[in-house]
Amino acid sequence: MTSLPLIPVDPDAPGARRAAMPPQHLADLDLAGRKDLVTKLGESAFRARQISTHYFGRLVRDPAQMTDLPAVSRERLADQLLPRLLTPVRELACDDGATRKALWRLHDGALVESVLMGYPDRVTVCISSQAGCGMACPFCATGQAGLTRNLSTAEIVDQAVYLAGVAASGVVAGSPPRLSHVVFMGMGEPLANYNRVIAAIRRLVSPAPEGLGLSQRHITVSTVGLVPAIHRLASEDLSVTLALSLHAPDDELRDELVPVNQRWKVCEVLDAAWAYAARTGRRVSIEYAMIKDVNDQPWRADLLGRLLAGKLAHVNLIPLNPTPGSRWDASPKPVEREFVRRLRDAGVSTTVRDTRGREIDGACGQLAAAEDKGTDPAGEMSA
Ligand code: SAH
Repeated sequence: MTSLPLIPVDPDAPGARRAAMPPQHLADLDLAGRKDLVTKLGESAFRARQISTHYFGRLVRDPAQMTDLPAVSRERLADQLLPRLLTPVRELACDDGATRKALWRLHDGALVESVLMGYPDRVTVCISSQAGCGMACPFCATGQAGLTRNLSTAEIVDQAVYLAGVAASGVVAGSPPRLSHVVFMGMGEPLANYNRVIAAIRRLVSPAPEGLGLSQRHITVSTVGLVPAIHRLASEDLSVTLALSLHAPDDELRDELVPVNQRWKVCEVLDAAWAYAARTGRRVSIEYAMIKDVNDQPWRADLLGRLLAGKLAHVNLIPLNPTPGSRWDASPKPVEREFVRRLRDAGVSTTVRDTRGREIDGACGQLAAAEDKGTDPAGEMSA
């Protein structure tokens, strides 16, 4: 018997399905679906393309600004295709405005967050796929709160479209104005909301006006390691980057840090990752939060090095961002450096992730957790 929590691993868990989903939005549908709907509403099919061009091509989300649509049509189409899905609760900026975090309230009151990160050569947004998360990783703020519900496809896409609009407005100084990368590293386990996440990815990569026109290679799906869903992802006609949240190279510790490991062991999840790499030709990113005296020992670096040597993999070490009240802390820098050295000696490409957004509670779920408790995590964004 284990005292660790049981993890819901059914991709469409009944509890998640019963929860109140938002109204349908144009981003839930492909262009053909939008044309069908528009025609059913008694409008000409070309209105579907027109409204899609506003939303995906020009990043206009407010129907009032779609002035080339006749007022009557605009109202009818806005009602059916552009319901307001995300209400901003808080927007915070740090790193001289290069990192911006948004906290949203959904139609049913659930809170989710997204982050925009500007770099000299690219703009990345980190988006949420669920309100809360059912995976219960003990070091993760979202994991502590449990799962509220799956997000709809459009709720996922709208985060990226909104922040693409923020980037296009030029407020992220020193970065290109065009959103280029999307990572599913916000709240939630994307592969536990499989169908909606895949549909959202299709919207992100379809050329405008059907979608945002991002490159598949610039989309990263991060997972705790739901093995059947990784195999399913490999069989889609998509070659997105897979990130696997490993955090421990041995089952004893991973059973605790990533409880879904009780169902699928380290060797099984790595086999699924290598199958994904073989099928797509894409290097898998192995995520490893460095937790002081928990998973940062030299022997664990050596074991990880042996598991990954010669594989199509890259290790991304993440300095732990301690959640409030946590018994865990980030590894000291010398320990981190030794861990990197051992992995590289084993021939494994390794980098340490930058710690963007720390002062605005950049770690998974912390902003939403602070809002729920009524604490002020940081100053309001000025821009
Ligand atoms: N559920 C998915 C994606 C969301 S979290 C997954 O687990 O991969 C994105 C990454 O942030 C994961 O690797 C997760 O383990 C990591 N993470 C969560 N909380 C963290 C914290 N407090 N410090 C550092 N990394 C954290």
